[in-house]
Amino acid sequence: MKNEESVRRGHATCLSAIFFLAGLLAAGSALVGKPAVAQDRSDEQDQSDEQYDAVAVGAAAVDVHAVAPDTLDLSVLVFSKTAVFRHRSIEDGAQALREIGEENGFSVTHTEDSTAFVWPDLAGYGAVVFLNTTGDVLNDEQQAAFEQYIRGGGGYVGIHAAADTEYDWAWYGELVGAYFASHPHIQEADIEVVDREFPATAHLPETWTRTDEWYDYKANPRGNVHVLAVLVEESYEGGRMGDDHPIAWAHEYDGGRAFYTGGGHTSESYEEPLFREHLLQAILWAAGRVDGDVSLD
Ligand SMILES: [Zn+2]
Repeated sequence: MKNEESVRRGHATCLSAIFFLAGLLAAGSALVGKPAVAQDRSDEQDQSDEQYDAVAVGAAAVDVHAVAPDTLDLSVLVFSKTAVFRHRSIEDGAQALREIGEENGFSVTHTEDSTAFVWPDLAGYGAVVFLNTTGDVLNDEQQAAFEQYIRGGGGYVGIHAAADTEYDWAWYGELVGAYFASHPHIQEADIEVVDREFPATAHLPETWTRTDEWYDYKANPRGNVHVLAVLVEESYEGGRMGDDHPIAWAHEYDGGRAFYTGGGHTSESYEEPLFREHLLQAILWAAGRVDGDVSLD
């Protein structure tokens, strides 16, 4: 589109060493269909409210990136082995994470091979993402290697069915924070973002409305984790956790950092700029590249 092209061209002339990271982000934003950040605000009055919102989100994200550390030495392992249910969105999720890595200067290795969970190989990863894993995916030796990794200061990011994984490994259950219990049909719901300072939720609106498959958990993780966002059960049908339904959280656990988000059932999730930023910042936090307060509530 002409307008977007001109913004992108204008932006390219702004690129300098100082704005290199911001430029990368803007280029990424343009790729996913958002207008590039409007550092040149001359076109603003021509933009619709919706476009303006996207620009505001992009600008907020650039603030984060302006202080983001070097990610060139960061490697992230994405693990999506399934022993039970297999989400059709796994390849889209893995592709999105590869793109997020490319856009932000870190490497992403995607595997379904549990032999990747071996020491000291795991120590090479700044974060390990469990992307819609299900069931018993690691043997005892692999579990021990992953525990050693977290105890050494490693980072974990669990997405959606990561909570539907390894029910007989109690350490993992505490790491992820809660196990899956049930879900109603896919539908739109409101999420109340209760922590808008933590990196993975700082870019989100107070009420984040999106469509996904909304999990209920066997137990409320509050008290063991720092809750970032809660589902508003009145906004959709079939929720079973009542007034306090955490759907994204983070905590420090056994020497490492752990983040979990309940979204990510659908392929469409991984095309949403806000959800992608949610995952990016979760990875950077889990890898210890950005700070976030996870004091217990
Ligand atoms: Zn699902």
